[in-house]
Amino acid sequence: MKAVVTGGAGFIGSHLCDHLIAQGHQVTVIDDLSTGSMANLAQLGEEPGFSFVQGDILDHELIDRLVSEADTVYHLAAAVGVYNIVDNPLRSLRINLHGTENIVEAAVRHRVPYMVASTSEVYGKNDADGLKEDDDRIYGSPTKSRWSYAAAKGLDELVAYVHGAESGVPCVITRFFNVVGPRQTGRYGMVVPRFVDQALAGEPITVYGTGAQRRCFGSVFDVVPAMTRLMDTPQAFNRAVNLGGREEISIKGLADRVVELIGSDSPITYTDYEQAYGTGYEDMQRRYPDTSLAGRLIGYEPTRGLDAIIGSIVDHRRTGFEVTAGPVKTTATTAPV
Ligand code: UDP
Repeated sequence: MKAVVTGGAGFIGSHLCDHLIAQGHQVTVIDDLSTGSMANLAQLGEEPGFSFVQGDILDHELIDRLVSEADTVYHLAAAVGVYNIVDNPLRSLRINLHGTENIVEAAVRHRVPYMVASTSEVYGKNDADGLKEDDDRIYGSPTKSRWSYAAAKGLDELVAYVHGAESGVPCVITRFFNVVGPRQTGRYGMVVPRFVDQALAGEPITVYGTGAQRRCFGSVFDVVPAMTRLMDTPQAFNRAVNLGGREEISIKGLADRVVELIGSDSPITYTDYEQAYGTGYEDMQRRYPDTSLAGRLIGYEPTRGLDAIIGSIVDHRRTGFEVTAGPVKTTATTAPV
């Protein structure tokens, strides 16, 4: 099978490329290298089935050609990271909205099954105990940067869903809940690599807000195999599916855990959201996934706890070596969904 991976030089995209190549597929990456990096793909440079195209997902002709040659498309290219979205609102909107439309339209035109990566941001401020795929979205004003990103990703899902439903071309929407692991950069805001880098450097750990806000971090090594399994599962077609972890923690708790695991003497500091992200920024206080749909569809069960996830990031930072070990469940299920 030939897969096109948009955003394949990014954090999740590059792990997906590793996984697809290991499964014996051919992979073509398209990435504009805005936030992704060739270093994430260095290990694939010599693979005969691998190729890289530096380009823009808004480029109609390029996308049409690449998609026409593919058997599957994984669309992960997006403007991501809170700092990036706040600093480049128009470019982010165009990429996240028109870029996705361009990919999906090409996939449907050439009848190529496609996956569109979405995000738990689409739930907005809904802090329910275990967000299910059909739960409500609770947004603030779309003129606030955070919600403009959430609104664009919500529309991406709709574009993917409606095209899939009308054309009959298989489509899966994956909603990632704070997926973390080696290669993720903290440059654009993601909290875990930021805290790890700060703790390793002995610098202050920068908690934003009170630190009472809670998140549940999922391992990229759990999430990536689930993506390819979903694309092989007709019951998953034309659905949005949550993917994430199990272990919930406050951001202050995360700071403490990182400091302890690294044995760092970094102090923990507190910064107002406005100072961290600019005027009008709103955070969500809690976000916790219900991944039981993925469980029923593909036997998804996160296997890596937070300490193992943090440990794999620390090891990678310290040694450049990625520890992917740990049981990965591959149980398929035919249970009714
Ligand atoms: N955060 C923080 N310090 C940082 C970066 C982020 O306290 O240096 C907070 C951020 O305000 C949010 C949480 O950590 O409450 C998760 O942030 P991230 O951007 O990783 O993910 P998201 O907000 O999209 O869940």
